[in-house]
This record gives sequence, structure tokens and C-alpha cells, in this order.
Amino acid sequence: MFPHTAFFTRQLFEWYDPDRRPTPWKGEEDPYRIWLSEIILQQTRVEQGWPYFEAFVTAYPTVHHLAAAPQDEVMKKWEGLGYYNRARNMLAAARYISDVREGKFPDNYEDILALKGVGPYTAAAIASFAYNLPYAVVDGNVYRVLARFFGIDHPTNTTSGKKLFTELAQTLLDKDQPGTYNQAIMDFGALVCTPANPDCASCPLQIHCKAHREDRIDQLPHKQPKAPRRIRFFHYFLLNHDGKILLRKREHKDVWRGLYEFPLLETEKLLEENQLLQQHTDWPFPVHWAPVDIAAISPPKRQLLSHQDIRARFIEIHLPKSTDPATISGTWVDREVLSDYAFPRIIDWYLGDNSLYLNM
Ligand code: SF4
Repeated sequence: MFPHTAFFTRQLFEWYDPDRRPTPWKGEEDPYRIWLSEIILQQTRVEQGWPYFEAFVTAYPTVHHLAAAPQDEVMKKWEGLGYYNRARNMLAAARYISDVREGKFPDNYEDILALKGVGPYTAAAIASFAYNLPYAVVDGNVYRVLARFFGIDHPTNTTSGKKLFTELAQTLLDKDQPGTYNQAIMDFGALVCTPANPDCASCPLQIHCKAHREDRIDQLPHKQPKAPRRIRFFHYFLLNHDGKILLRKREHKDVWRGLYEFPLLETEKLLEENQLLQQHTDWPFPVHWAPVDIAAISPPKRQLLSHQDIRARFIEIHLPKSTDPATISGTWVDREVLSDYAFPRIIDWYLGDNSLYLNM
């Protein structure tokens, strides 16, 4: 049992002012819009995600509108937010609510949690904000505030740590005003007990804050070190045939599923131009002409994902006019309409960098 739990909750309510940190879900009662905002803002800063939320509710004012949207259109609107699984799951959940539940959003914690893409944090947020149900949110903000105030060393990213923090959060929750309590602790973590330089001087919890008293703020919350990211080496071929570029859709179970890309050669290390030419029989399309040459090659670019470190190089190839484009699988599109397609961020960077976009 932790001390000062009643003090913690009371002080948090006294401190809370909903206008201090505007968010799309504050004052919102429509569970569809609350769900949409929570999905869009997972792992995303409010300032970055808010325009996306506005774009989605404008394009899809109800769950039926979203359910009826083609996947490519949704992925395009999502472009730039990353973690594309969220978009795929969001669409699958919208279709389930629209078709199976006839548009009625689930109104209890278990059914909300059963929606695709909804984990315990999002389910607690929706249940408490939309229906005032007594479920405490536990996210990065909450781990930090609780670990510091109560001086908890237990790593937050372990099963036992998650259980400990979830039980403590549930104890602290004001069961009469769970929505307001959840908003308050999230705002407090975002505005006062921030990851770096928390505002301890004006913190209403300071007198009983264990981390502050023991000068351990920098050490909490504690996390178990993660496994290193897997490094992957991608070579993207921009095939240009008569002004058209070849795109392929990533369909397999891997990063960026559902997004478009150029024909890809993945290797054990990054290849230089002469190595690529030597290995032209491995290229991800048939090469029937000679001499085989490369019009331009980019320096390596890099994109860090949560578990992967992608290093990519872009290789521009001009196919001879005599090539029959139908013999190469994929979709040929005019260069001018490339921006209509949803790409991984590393390809967007490449396309947006005129110093690299050389000879096309
Ligand atoms: S005193 Fe500092 S570390 Fe402790 S809860 Fe307040 S802001 Fe966080």
C-alpha cells in the first residue's frame, strides 16, 4: 500500500483546469469522435495529430462514412503519422461497428477493448470520457507521474511493472469522476511532471513527492533496456519507362503493409553502385538489356522505427523504350501523380528532396 494516495487525487483535482491544455477529446461526447482522436493521437503529440483528427472527422463525420472509405484513401490521409497498423486497425474496427453493430459504438469496457487496435489505455480513455466508466488510463505520462511521486523503481515496461502501475492507478482513480481524473493526470504529466525539467517548484504534489525528496527525478520512471533495433538495408529502384514510374504495394506481413514503394532489393549490407551492377541478376525485376547502367544513385537515407533501423538507397534506372512494361509486375504511374499514393516516410523524404531527385 502506498502512502498519500488521497492527497495525490485531491491535489490533482485542485490543480486541474480543462482549458490549460486543449485536446480534441475534451468536452466531446460522441464516442466515435473520442475513439478517432485516441487512435490518431496514440504515440503522437497532440499538436501533430490534431490536424489529422480534423481532416478525418471532416472527411468521415460518422463511423459509416469511415467504414465505406477505400483503404488507399485512408492510408493517404494517414500519411506522415507513422505506425500504419493503427490506420488499418482503425478501418477494420470502423467496418465492424458499421456492419456488425449497425453503427452503435460499444458502451462497456470489454467491448471497447475488443475493437481492433484498442489496447487497455485507449479502452480506459474512451470508457471514462464517453461513458464515465471507472477505468484509469495508464500511459507514459501516468507511469512517469506515479513512479516519481511514489518513488517506484520497478521497470514500467515489464509485465509485473504494468500490473503494479495499473493497480495503483485504479486505486487513485476518483470513481465518481473517472473522466475528469484521467484528463487531469494526463495533463499533469504533459504540463508539470514532464520527462525533462519537470516544474517541481510549482508542483502541488511536491511536499510528498518521493523522487523530489530523494533527488531521483532523473532516474524515474525506470525502464528495462530494450533489445537493439534490427538494421535492414533497402535498395529502391525507381524504374522510369516513358515518363512512368513503377510502384508496388507492400502486402506481406512486415513494416509498412498497405503502403506503396518502388521495387525493392533487400540485402545484408548497403551496396555501392559497382556492387549493385555486379548483382544485377538479383534486381527485383527482369533485366533484358545491355549494357546495364544506373542513371543516378542517392546517398543512404535512414528511418528509425520502434524496432527497426532502415537504411535505404534510391537507384534510378531508365528502361529502354523497347521494354514491354507489362512484363514487370506492379503499377505504372505518371510521375506527376506520385503524391496521390501513400508511401513510407523514407520514400517521401526522398521524393521531397530535390537535391536527390536527379534525372527523372
Ligand atoms: S515534485 Fe516534481 S517530480 Fe514530483 S510529481 Fe511534482 S513535478 Fe513530478
